[in-house]
Amino acid sequence: MKVTFLGTAAAEGYPALWCRCERCIVARERGSEDLRLRSSILINDDLLIDPGPDLVGSTIRLGVDVADVQAILITHLHDDHLDPTGFLWRGVGFALPPLPVAEVIGTAPTLGRLHDREGKALDPAQLRFAPRPVRHGERLTVSTGGTHDPDPRARPGRSRTTDGVPTATTTRTYEIVVMPASHARPDEEASFFVVRQTSGPESSHSHPSTVLYATDTGPFSEDAWKILDQLGHDGWTLDASIIDATLGLGGPGTSHMNLDQVVWHQGELGRRGLLSPTADRIAHHFSHNATPPHQELTAHLAQFGVIPSHDGLVTHVGA
Ligand SMILES: [Zn+2]
Ligand SMILES: [Zn+2]
Repeated sequence: MKVTFLGTAAAEGYPALWCRCERCIVARERGSEDLRLRSSILINDDLLIDPGPDLVGSTIRLGVDVADVQAILITHLHDDHLDPTGFLWRGVGFALPPLPVAEVIGTAPTLGRLHDREGKALDPAQLRFAPRPVRHGERLTVSTGGTHDPDPRARPGRSRTTDGVPTATTTRTYEIVVMPASHARPDEEASFFVVRQTSGPESSHSHPSTVLYATDTGPFSEDAWKILDQLGHDGWTLDASIIDATLGLGGPGTSHMNLDQVVWHQGELGRRGLLSPTADRIAHHFSHNATPPHQELTAHLAQFGVIPSHDGLVTHVGA
C-alpha cells in the first residue's frame, strides 16, 4: 500500500498565512520540507482521505494524478479537511472524461456539507460521486478499479480514450473502519479511519497492509480503543499509524495532541499488540504554534522511534 502525503499542516498552513513568528520565518527561508499545506493523503492512486482546500495546490505541487480516485474518505466537516468546491471541478468543462464514480464516505453531518456556495446540494450524477453515509464503529468494504463505461458526458474530441472504448484501471479492495474521533462538537461526529487493503497488486504479502489515519483527534476515547482492540482480536495489525500532532511541544490537548501524547499513543498501540514489528510510526497535522521546523522535529521524534510526515512523503506500508 502506497501512502502519499499531499499535505501535513493544521488549518492555517505552516508557515501560517498571516504569521511572522520565528518558526514561520525559518520555514519560509528553508523551504522544501518546511512548507506544509493542509492535511490530506492519497492511498495508492484510488483512495483519498480529506479533500481539503489545498487539494488543487498539493496535486499540482507534487505532480500527483487523482483522476482514478474512487473512494474519498472525509474525517470531519472542518474547513481544512473538506472543501466542497473541489468537487465542482469533477464536472463537465473542468475534467476530461471518462471519470469513474467516486464513493464519498463520511458521517451524515460531514456529508451534509457537500453543497455549493449558494447552499445547493452538490449533484452526485453530474459530479460523478456517490455519497455513502457511515456511523462510528462501522466496517465497510470498498472496491475500486475495473472497467468503466465511457462517461456519458464525453463529447467527440474530448474523450481521453477512443470514443466508445471502456477504460480499465487497477482493481483493489479496501476494508474501512470508521473510528470516533475526540474532536469537534459531538453532533458533528468527527471520525478517523483504519484502512486495510485486502486485494490489488500491492497486497501480495502474507498479510493485508493496514494503516491508521488519526487526525484530527485528541487522546483516543474508550470506544476508540475498544474498536481497535477488537481489530487486534480479529487478527488485524497496523503497518503504519499516522497520528495528530497539532500541539507540538506545547501542553497536552483534548481535541488535538502534543508530541508527548503522540509518542504515548504510538507506544500504547504497540503495548496492545496492534502494531506490526516494522510499523511506520508517524506524526502528522502540524501547526507553527509549537512545532519546530522539520529538521529539529525529526531529531526530537527520532529518540522515540517516530517520524514526522512532510508534504510529498511517500511510504510503502507493509512492504
Ligand atoms: Zn485539521
Ligand atoms: Zn478539525
